[in-house]
Amino acid sequence: MTSFDPQSVPVRCAHFIGGQYRDGAPRLDITRPSDGQVYAGLPVADADLVDEIVENAWNAFKTSDWRSRPPRERARVMRRWADLIEADTAILAPLEAVGSTRPIGECLSFDVPFAAEGVRFFAEFADKVGGEVASTASDHLGMQISEPYGVIAAIAPWNFPLNMACWKIAPALAAGNAVVLKPSEMTPFSCLRMAELAVQAGLPPGIFNVVQGDGRTTGDALCRHPKVAKVTFTGSTATGASIMSACALTGPKPVTLELGGKSPQLVFADAPDLIRTARSIARAITGNAGQVCVSGSRLIVQRAAYEPLVAEIQRAFALLQPGRTWDSHTSLAPIISATQLQRIGGIVERAQAAGAEVLCGGGTDPRLEGGCFYQPTLLGNVDARNPAVLEEIFGPVLTVQVFDDEEEGLALADHPVYGLAAGVHTADLGRALRAVRRLEAGTVWVNRYGRSADWIIPTGGYKRSGIGKDLGRAAYEANLRFKSVLIDIGQH
Ligand code: NAD
Repeated sequence: MTSFDPQSVPVRCAHFIGGQYRDGAPRLDITRPSDGQVYAGLPVADADLVDEIVENAWNAFKTSDWRSRPPRERARVMRRWADLIEADTAILAPLEAVGSTRPIGECLSFDVPFAAEGVRFFAEFADKVGGEVASTASDHLGMQISEPYGVIAAIAPWNFPLNMACWKIAPALAAGNAVVLKPSEMTPFSCLRMAELAVQAGLPPGIFNVVQGDGRTTGDALCRHPKVAKVTFTGSTATGASIMSACALTGPKPVTLELGGKSPQLVFADAPDLIRTARSIARAITGNAGQVCVSGSRLIVQRAAYEPLVAEIQRAFALLQPGRTWDSHTSLAPIISATQLQRIGGIVERAQAAGAEVLCGGGTDPRLEGGCFYQPTLLGNVDARNPAVLEEIFGPVLTVQVFDDEEEGLALADHPVYGLAAGVHTADLGRALRAVRRLEAGTVWVNRYGRSADWIIPTGGYKRSGIGKDLGRAAYEANLRFKSVLIDIGQH
C-alpha cells in the first residue's frame, strides 16, 4: 500500500471510559502536520471528568476479576488483543498516520505490528514473573509476593503514538492493573481504537480507559488524583519534572519517567565499514525527522574519518524524500507542528550565531505547501557549548565535532544533562568495551545504532533522561508491588 486520502479517515473525537466511547465538546483544534489543516476537534477532560474516569477504573480494578484471573487467562486475552490489533491494520495504520509524523509505509511495516508484538511480549510475563521465596531460618517461611498497584496513569508523547502508549499499557495490564491513558493532545485518536479492540478481546470494561486533553488540565489532574497509585510517563524532561513534583505533593507515589536525550555517535577512524556507518548515522537522525528520543544527534568523529563520513552522510540525506504521511513514497516525515518547526529554526539560528557552519540543509523545506518540513541538516564547527550541541532539538539536525584521541572523543561524548543512548563505532573490541564502560547512557549500541526487535532489552535514561525502564522484564516488574510475607511454621 498504498497512499490514502486523508479525508477518508474517520476520527472519533472522544474519551473511552468504562468500555465505551464518551463524546465531549471539542475544545482543541487538531492539525495535520503534513499539510497544516485542522482535521478534528478534541475534548479536554477537566478535573471532574478525570475524577469520574479514575473512580471508574478503580471500581473495575476492585470488582472485575482482571487482577485475580489465572495469569494465563489474562495473557490469553492480551494475545487475542494483539491479534485484533494486527487484523485491524487497514484501519489503524491510516488512523496513526493521518495526523502524526508517521508515514503510512512505516505505520504498516513497523508501528502497528510492533505495537501488537509489544502486547504479546508483555502478556508472556503474566504467568512467569511473580514473587520469590526467601532463604530464612527453617522455622519460618519468608516470601515476596507480587501484586498489581491498582490504577496506573500512563501519559504518552506524540512521536510514536501507538508504540509509546503500548510500552506503558501492555506491562501494566499484563500485571493485572487498571490503566488510564492520556495520549498526547496532538495525536489522540489511534489509541482510542486500540482501547475498543481491547474490550473486544475480552478485557473487562473500565480496565483500560483513554482520557483526552492537554497536559496542564487533564494530565496534571490525572497525576494528582488520590486513587492513581503510580504514574508512568514518556515525554520531555521538563514535563517529567512537573509530573514528579505533582506526584510527590499528592503522594508521594512512584513514577517511571522516560525523558529527553542528546545522544552521541562516537566514530573512530577504524570503524568497520564507513559507508554502512554513515548510512546508519543518517538514519538515526532523520528517522521520524529526528523526532525520536534516542536520535543520534551529536556526531563525534575521529579526524581521519571526518571527510569521507560527512560526505557519505550528506549523500544519504540527499536521497530522502520529504512527503505527506499519507503518501507511500515518503521517506522524510513532517515536523509535528508549526511551533516545533519554528523552534528548530530558532536553535539552528542561535547555533550559527555561536559559530556553527551549516554544511547542508539549515532551513524549512517549502516544497510541500502548508506542511511542516525541515531539511536534513549538518552543522560543523561547533564546540561543547553550542546551543545545537547542548539542547534537544527533536528535528533532523546533526552536529559534527572532531577529535584526535580516544580520551578526547569520550570527553566530548559526555553530555552535562542527558544520558539516554550512545553509539560507538570501532573495529577495536577493547576500545569499544572501554567506551561502553565510560559512557553515561542507559543504552550503548556498538557498531549499530537503534533498537532491535528484541523487546527483552530494556530502555531508559541515565542522568536527566529518565528514571526506570520501559521494555524488558524491568518494565513488567515496575508495574508490580512486592509484599513481604513471613510465616512462622514452628518446630516439630
Ligand atoms: P511533552 O513532555 O510535551 O508531552 C508528553 C505528554 O505529557 C503529553 O501527553 C502531554 O499532554 C503531557 N503533559 C504535558 N504537561 C503535563 C503536565 N504538567 N502534567 C501531566 N502531563 C503533562 O513531550 P512531547 O513533546 O509530547 O514528546 C517529545 C519529548 O518526549 C522529547 O523530549 C523526547 O525525547 C521525549 N521522548 C522520550 C522517550 C524515551 O523513551 N525516553 C520516548 C519518546 C519521546
